[in-house]
Amino acid sequence: MNAYEQISLQIPGEVERLMEDRSILREDAQKVILHAETTGRKLLNSATGHFLAFHRPKAVTYWAEYVRTGDDYRLVTAYSHRMAMKSSGSTQEWVKSGSGSEWLCNQCQAPLEEQTVRLQYMQSIFPITLPACSGCGFILVTEELATGKLAAAEQALEDK
Ligand SMILES: [Zn+2]
Repeated sequence: MNAYEQISLQIPGEVERLMEDRSILREDAQKVILHAETTGRKLLNSATGHFLAFHRPKAVTYWAEYVRTGDDYRLVTAYSHRMAMKSSGSTQEWVKSGSGSEWLCNQCQAPLEEQTVRLQYMQSIFPITLPACSGCGFILVTEELATGKLAAAEQALEDK
């Protein structure tokens, strides 16, 4: 049995349908959660108590928002994008706009702030303003961004 299979994950019906549409498998979500829980690399929403984390096993970044109750997990939503977040861990070049976010970096115990970061897809690099952690360089790609603007940009670049 693989380690991720031990993640006891409850997926509500509407989330299951969403994942089907987005070609995300149950094991993709389990791997995100396993990665987040073993490394501590995750965000905590101070308003809802939800966790949000990502994992990029190959050319796709998977995100999972979830709730933890003891050893059980319930998936709130899952999404993916192919564009890579280009952060070397150095945040010195980031331009902070100062506005905060309801998401806290679990590792740094610090709120995310809007910063100018870079995303890369194939040969193209985009500067973009996203909530990110100044401490460790964790960049938040929201579901709205991943399924909207990023999906459209990925499509446009592939069509070139
Ligand atoms: Zn951090």
